[in-house]
Parts: sequence; structure tokens; C-alpha cells
Amino acid sequence: NEESAVTITVVGASGDLAKKKIFPALFHLYYEDCLPKHFTVFGYARSKMTDEEFRNMVSKTLTCRIDKRENCSEKMDEFLRRCFYHSGQYDSEENFVELDKKLREQEGGRISNRLYYLSIPPNIFIDAVRCASSSASSVNGWTRVIVEKPFGRDSESSAALTRGLKQYLEEDQIFRIDHYLGKELVENLSVLRFSNLIFEPLWSRQYIRNVQLIFSEDFGTEGRGGYFDHYGIIRDILQNHLLQILAIFAMETPVSLKAEDIRNEKVKVLRSMKPLLLENVAIGQYKSHTRGGITYPAYTDDKTVPKGSRTPTFAAAALFIDNARWDGVPFLMKAGKALHTKRAEIRVQFRHVPGNLYNKSFGTDLDQATNELVIRLQPDEAIYLKINNKVPGLGMRLDNSHLNLHYAARYSKEIPDAYERLLLDAIEGERRLFIRSDELDVAWELFTPVLKEMEEKKIIPEYYPYGSRGPVGAHYLAAKYNLRWGDMYV
Ligand code: NAP
Repeated sequence: NEESAVTITVVGASGDLAKKKIFPALFHLYYEDCLPKHFTVFGYARSKMTDEEFRNMVSKTLTCRIDKRENCSEKMDEFLRRCFYHSGQYDSEENFVELDKKLREQEGGRISNRLYYLSIPPNIFIDAVRCASSSASSVNGWTRVIVEKPFGRDSESSAALTRGLKQYLEEDQIFRIDHYLGKELVENLSVLRFSNLIFEPLWSRQYIRNVQLIFSEDFGTEGRGGYFDHYGIIRDILQNHLLQILAIFAMETPVSLKAEDIRNEKVKVLRSMKPLLLENVAIGQYKSHTRGGITYPAYTDDKTVPKGSRTPTFAAAALFIDNARWDGVPFLMKAGKALHTKRAEIRVQFRHVPGNLYNKSFGTDLDQATNELVIRLQPDEAIYLKINNKVPGLGMRLDNSHLNLHYAARYSKEIPDAYERLLLDAIEGERRLFIRSDELDVAWELFTPVLKEMEEKKIIPEYYPYGSRGPVGAHYLAAKYNLRWGDMYV
């Protein structure tokens, strides 16, 4: 309804995520005229700030897009005038009653719709939800809550979190965010597959030899390892971001594009997965390395990381989907910090051409000669297909070339940040890109046993130098299935 009011309350507004992602995303939505007519942004945290100080803090986080410079500072001022702040404790109903009063003032008697973004550490999620729902929820419109990861650290703690949230909220009020699902190329994955005749017929064990989901960062924890050490890379990246991409990649055609139809298909994939075995996991941790006169620290040099920590900063895993479409196809995942590059991509390696006439002329490297579809999620978004091609000339020599859809060259606009799409979806009540609780349960069921086994057996990660390509264990894991990581020869 055009005339209803929408307030977006960022709980934990003084924090890193709020400044880095949430306020800039809200501003871009405002700039693009995507926010409702009567919207207000509220910051809530314990830090003491006036509205003016808050606006000043927010203003430092806002940027203009290269292609959107026109009126940008005017728009920023307009946006900032819609921003307010309330200081309070996360477990104080009284403080939330005060917030409610301020929200009402801004709503001015209109139908009130309230979105809370919990950008706070997980141990205070439930307190904040209890207070917001009992003292500051909408009486005549909707109340929704965006929850950030981590959603627990195993099946039990995740179930406890869900139970806690459901004491105060219905499932359809909970928006569990996995920002990978808001990425342009993840969204495009289904378009690519379901709206092009040439891909879907190939999308099965018959033509696909393996699928690789790769995430690398070229920096370590850099003083923010306290949170990370409690979780490790498997919980931080594999169990959520990479598994979500896998589910979208591998799902059957949904009945429609409606949220529940898509989420039903994703859950089916996750429920069809074989248990993940310890022998199909390789873990690593970065160690100090000196290059070009610069010494890069080890993970355990981070002051916030306990001495002697065995937490993996790198993990590779081979997973299998036990259904007719994917029987026997390895889905290899790999994620690591402090590697030689920063990248997230999906690599689909196709089978070899049977009885290939050109093998001899091409040379002996069959791996190089297979077709590979690469979807680069970040940075420098691209989709390219590696094909064998004749080198022009009188002789017969083949090389491996790319049919390349390079986003920066094809589309002259900047790609919106994942948080923009997700915030807009939450405001519009679109749940397609958020994680349903049964999805979360199966995702944890898959990873919890192996995480427990690793912890019980005190598995020591393989050390790899900061800035390297990661531990050799990842190569052994791929080799076990007669495969090679595609990113080794781009
Ligand atoms: P943060 O900066 O550590 O915390 C956000 C705010 O919460 C702080 O400004 C602080 O505000 C309050 N706070 C911090 N520790 C607290 C404690 N022990 N007790 C009570 N209040 C506390 O967190 P963040 O990095 O913004 O992340 C927020 C949430 O998003 C977390 O759940 C995190 O796991 C998740 N997340 C973050 C990122 C990221 O890039 N940062 C990415 C993905 C997910 P006051 O002191 O003013 O109250």
C-alpha cells in the first residue's frame, strides 16, 4: 500500500556490517527510487549518539555510483533526513518501548510496517527479537526480522536458535540472509539454465563430469579472528554460501518462480545428499610467509586467535547427490583465506568427447581439452565457456579458447550489491532468496557429523604459506576422483 509507512531498524547500527553494507545498500535503493514513499531508517545500538551524530556516521558510509553522480549529494541529504537513532540495550523491553514511541512518531498514524535487521553478535539475537516483538512490533501491518549468519554452529545450536526465534516470530517473519544468494550471477544461474535450450539438456551426470565451487580470499583474519576461530571456514563458507549455490545449481525445475516452489526444490537436493565423510574433506591453516621482503602473518599470529588453534582457514570437500540426475558426480567445494587470489566461482567440467578425433593433434592433456563452463561470481563477473578451437592457419592445431560474457564489457552499469537486492526483497516480502528453517536444518545435518568427528579426532590442518594456492591435500582429494581443480589453469 502506497500510504503505509515502512521503518527499517538496524539493530547494531554502530557495527561493522551496518556501516559497510546496510546503510550504503539502503541509500542505493533510495537513489534508485526503490524504497516506499513513507520510509524511515532507524539505528539502534548501545552506543550513545544523537540523530545528528548518527547521520554524520551514516553519511561517511555512503557512496555514489560512477554512473549515478547526478544529484547524488542532494539525494544523500534527503536520505539522511529520513535517518534517526535510538540508543538502548538489546535486552531491555523498556528501551524498545521508547523505540516504539519514536517509530510511531515517524509513522504518523499510517499503517505501520516494520523491518528489523539484526546486525549484532548471535548471542544477543533472541534477546533483541524478544524485546522487538513484545514492545516494538507493528500493530496493524507486518513485522519482519532479517537475521545474519551464523545460524548456530551445529545442528543442535541452530535448532535452538530457530526454536528461540519461533517463540516470538512466525516462520514467514524470519528472513535468514545468505548474501551469496543476492549475488547477480547466482540469481542468473537459473536464468542461464532454464531459459536457454542449450544448457538444461547437458545439466546432469550424462554430460557433467564434476562441478566445482570455489571461494578464495587473498587476506587472512587480520585482527578479526576471534569470531572466526569459533567457527572455522567450513561453517563460515562451505555449510552456507557454497552449499546454497550447490542447491540452486543442482535443483530440479521448480514448479514456478515462487519462493516456496524454489525452496522446496533446494531442500530436495540437500535431502538427497550422501553423508559427508571425513575422508572426503581436506583442511588447512595458513602459516607465515615472507615474500619480496614482506612477512605475512600466520593465522595464529592474529592476537584475537587462541595460541595453537587448530581451526581450519582452508577446506576442500567432495560431496555427492544421491539422485537420478547427479548419481556419481563429485561436487567439489574449496574455500580458503590468505590464498594467492580473491575469487568466487562455479566451474562445471564436462565429460571428454568420446573417441575424440583430435586428441592426437591437441596433445595429451585431456583435462585441458574438456569443455568447462565458468561462472565467476566475483570479482569482475563473467560467464565463459571453454571450447576447443582450431588455431587459424594452414595447419591443424587446436587450442582452448573462451566464449566470454564479460559483464563489464557487455553491460555498462555497475552491478548492485547483494545486500541491495536482499533488503529490497525483505521490504517487499519476497522470500525466494532467504533460507527457510527446514533448509537450514538439512544443511547442518550434512555438515555436523563431520565437524564433530574432526573436533573429536583433533585433526590437525595442513599448513600452507600465506598467499599460496592452499594445501596439497586439496589436490589429493580431487585426484582421488581423477579430477583437477579448474582454477589451477584458468
Ligand atoms: P560487530 O561490529 O561486532 O557488532 C555490531 C554491534 O553490536 C556493535 O557495534 C555493538 O554495538 C554491538 N555489540 C558488539 N558486541 C557486543 C556484545 N558482546 N554484546 C552486546 N552488543 C555487542 O558485528 P558486525 O561485524 O557488524 O556483524 C553483525 C552481524 O552480522 C553478526 O551476526 C555477524 O556474524 C554478521 N555478519 C557480519 C559480516 C561482516 O562483514 N561484518 C558478514 C556476514 C555476517 P554497541 O556497542 O553500540 O551496542
